[in-house]
Amino acid sequence: MNKFIPLSIPNFEGNEKKYVNDALDQGWVSTGGAYITKLEQEMAKFLCTGNVAACQSGTSALHLSLIEADVIPGDVVLVPPLTFIAAVNPVKYQFATPVFIDCDDSFCMDPVKLRSFCETQCEFDGAHLKYQGKIVRALIVVHVFGNMADMDAIMSVAEEFNLKVIEDATEALGTYYTEGHYVGKYAGTIGDFGAFSFNGNKIITTGGGGAVTANNSKTVDHLRYLSTQAKNDPHYYIHDEIGYNFRMTNLQAALGVAQMEELPEFIRRKQSNYDLYKEQFADFELAELVSFREGTSSNKWFYSLELDKNRISATMREIITSLEKRGIQTRAIWGLINEQKPYKGEVTYNLEKAPYYASRILNIPSSTQITEEEIIYVADEVKQLLRCLADE
Ligand SMILES: *Cc1c(COP(=O)(O)O)cnc(C)c1O
Repeated sequence: MNKFIPLSIPNFEGNEKKYVNDALDQGWVSTGGAYITKLEQEMAKFLCTGNVAACQSGTSALHLSLIEADVIPGDVVLVPPLTFIAAVNPVKYQFATPVFIDCDDSFCMDPVKLRSFCETQCEFDGAHLKYQGKIVRALIVVHVFGNMADMDAIMSVAEEFNLKVIEDATEALGTYYTEGHYVGKYAGTIGDFGAFSFNGNKIITTGGGGAVTANNSKTVDHLRYLSTQAKNDPHYYIHDEIGYNFRMTNLQAALGVAQMEELPEFIRRKQSNYDLYKEQFADFELAELVSFREGTSSNKWFYSLELDKNRISATMREIITSLEKRGIQTRAIWGLINEQKPYKGEVTYNLEKAPYYASRILNIPSSTQITEEEIIYVADEVKQLLRCLADE
């Protein structure tokens, strides 16, 4: 096999061209048009939620959520260290202060450490949780790689300490609980706000784009209003608030409507490809395919191999470049956000698992088009390489 197996590429097997051409033919290419509304309705239906606002990106969806959650300069927002930096940057856009809370074995925020931070490092006056005199306004929980965070436990801490919950569901469109308190609830529809992304590598894409939802339909209307320059009147330029140019375009939405039609099939493929990888790595002694939370149906967007670092001392860079030479694109999980230049010096709380996983997770190809043959090739090559690299 001398072809290249990419990590995660978009899939346009459906009505994408038809709908985009239709939007072009109609001349509706900008931030108005029927495809935007259609995409919002299809998403709301899929997520079993009342109202969804389409926006320009997942980042803008998160930014709008923080604004709507009344995060103001000087506030504290609890955030994850081990995820894509776009989950945390909007905290800085609001001139608020991030505090990094460790993850658990799902790579998502650890509710036990979250609680212990609130109980031992903060004071609660019945209305506000305060950390060093600052109001802890919200937390951002990321459903990493499509894996549901422990929302039962996180929501109970948030309720107890009056924290707004912003779910970064950018990687988790289609993940839902199959049992427990939140049975039937989708990632992004449990907290106060849920943000989704349609960037090129996500489970569905609009090129660039995103969506935001909230637990209250009126709030979503307000988010949409903020995203369209806060225009109050259809005829006159009257603006009662500072708005943003965060709306999705109709061209993007046309792509999105076609992608939503295929979403169930994409999820099915992600799940069955994951199962095949799981078989391939079942008895492998040097790495383990990381599982998704029990009691949920995950979209299984991205696959993670946990390497046995006691036996493999090669660096991630060596492993990634060796696999590249074999035609396989892989990547390391992210660098810790608290170690990035703009975040050095911010407060971290008991980070143990985040640095642990940061040094040993390798993501392997997960595109929906990958064939069984390719999966077996990837698994064989990864196993062969790691066996060569293993210390005696
Ligand atoms: C992709 C992603 C985002 C940002 O979404 P964009 O649409 O690229 O702005 C935010 N958080 C996480 C965890 C992501 O994976």
